[in-house]
Amino acid sequence: MQHTGPYGELFIVSAPSGVGKSTIIGKVLSTFPKLRFSVSSTTRPARPSETEGKDYHYLSVEQFRQGIDCGRFLEWARVHDHFYGTDRHIVENWLESGYDVLLDIDVQGTRQVRWTHPEAKTIFILPPSMEVLEQRLRGRATETEEQLLVRICAAKREILEASWYDYLVVNDDLQEAFQDLGAIIRACQSQSKVHSPVVKKLLMSIVDSTLSPK
Ligand code: 5GP
Repeated sequence: MQHTGPYGELFIVSAPSGVGKSTIIGKVLSTFPKLRFSVSSTTRPARPSETEGKDYHYLSVEQFRQGIDCGRFLEWARVHDHFYGTDRHIVENWLESGYDVLLDIDVQGTRQVRWTHPEAKTIFILPPSMEVLEQRLRGRATETEEQLLVRICAAKREILEASWYDYLVVNDDLQEAFQDLGAIIRACQSQSKVHSPVVKKLLMSIVDSTLSPK
């Protein structure tokens, strides 16, 4: 398909589990109608509150491996003993159609996407402290003690990588963190508006009126 319109912006949001990323992303998605959320595939079993196709596509390890072999994923990684991956076609079709796309993926996945989409804007959401993160993870009560320790260790490793992300947001207060992420998205969208049809038309009308003989 020949693409004529402007490409959408690609946003990558990472955060260790328990930081409140899903809540913040949910609020942002309901605020920005042009923003599409890429639903990842995973081999992790669904949590009771989750729905197939909305939170994740739940695949068997076999199905996931087949996906890797046939190039289905834009990126994939093993996180907390499960596979997670982003569907390449969906993301690229949306971007080509001019939609902005948000990926909620980990640090390993972000690194991979930056190779293929160096223009992607990367945002890392931090907890205000490790104590608060641990409290939030315990409060969620969805993991065993062993799984919890694995997640805390992984969180420390991920936070140490936050420095190379384009933007950092601290989730101390949910409303503020949501506003910060919204402000980043809004600013990036405005930056790319120079390519938008409205701006192009405006500029062309000025050029035409300036060049046309009086
Ligand atoms: P959870 O199991 O808590 O939903 O997610 C665990 C971690 O996997 C989170 O850090 C989340 O960002 C990451 N994740 C979710 N989907 C993907 C994906 O498609 N690719 C990668 N690389 N990480 C993902």
